[in-house]
Amino acid sequence: ETKKHGRDGYRIYTDKLTEAAKQRISISTGLHNAIDQNELDVFYQPQYNLVTGRLVGAEALVRWRHPTKGLLLPVDFIGVAEETGVISEIDDWVFGRVSRDVESWLDAGLSLRDVRISVNISGQKFFSTELTDRLERFKQEKPHIVALLTLEVHEQDVMKNAVYARELIQRLRDKGYKLAIDDIGTGRSSLAFLQGLPLDYMKLDRSVVHNVSSGENDFAFVKAFLSLAQELNIEVIAEGIEEELQAKKLREAGCHVMQGFMYSYPLPRAEWEGVLYDKRGL
Ligand code: C2E
Ligand code: MG
Ligand code: MG
Ligand code: MG
Repeated sequence: ETKKHGRDGYRIYTDKLTEAAKQRISISTGLHNAIDQNELDVFYQPQYNLVTGRLVGAEALVRWRHPTKGLLLPVDFIGVAEETGVISEIDDWVFGRVSRDVESWLDAGLSLRDVRISVNISGQKFFSTELTDRLERFKQEKPHIVALLTLEVHEQDVMKNAVYARELIQRLRDKGYKLAIDDIGTGRSSLAFLQGLPLDYMKLDRSVVHNVSSGENDFAFVKAFLSLAQELNIEVIAEGIEEELQAKKLREAGCHVMQGFMYSYPLPRAEWEGVLYDKRGL
């Protein structure tokens, strides 16, 4: 194309690069103000036990109500947030928002004993002493909320420093937090490694879920994985269920808890509260 259009083609190309760079800078500066300007929000995606049909939890997912671009998803800004380190403040904000939400639900008389709420923790945050300090402080202030929260750490982040990650997981669990490994199947951890981790939940990545209905290899992995999890008494949540066949295959393999668009999209808080207050099942 460059040849055909000569200089103009080349110019168009560099203009595009500049445009992408401009976008990143705009996202990055906007993100700095987003927290102060109260533009971040949290949506909750319900999780269901397919055997009982019951609501069993929800995952908190950050959203950015951008003043000009509209509602932004993590894919639009998490990458930049990680590069600039703002992710740490985002995680702090989300944790604060979610813990206040949980407290308000308890104040409203809900038990939350059967409904777990999970928050994502970025790798950067997970490996920082800042996080352990904050969670320690939080435990002193609100001990009754700690056991209701699950912290999700990505498998790929865990694998960056598996030895230290194990130690941190143990430490947070000792404080009373629940721990989940997120996106299993993307980070090449071995079953033997997962076996050594003190976990409450493991989440099967959407890509694995997507392949169970098509590829035999993936189904074999999922079956081996689920039987190990069962032995270890760790609950598995399958993520990204979009089709009946995926749910069917996973149930066959022994997975009962599902999160996916087929059951519910992530919901704005008010809508999620409707589901929660009725403990509305499938
Ligand atoms: P994740 O933690 O694996 O969260 C699940 C993602 O899968 C969510 O995307 C959810 O909307 C999406 N999902 C659920 N079911 C389906 C389905 O059936 N089909 C499809 N196509 N997608 C489904 P979302 O909300 O866009 O978040 C993407 C990622 O951004 C999250 O993946 C997580 O890694 C990150 N993230 C979200 N909130 C936070 C946060 O507060 N802090 C940090 N550090 N990361 C976050
Ligand atoms: Mg997650
Ligand atoms: Mg995930
Ligand atoms: Mg993911």
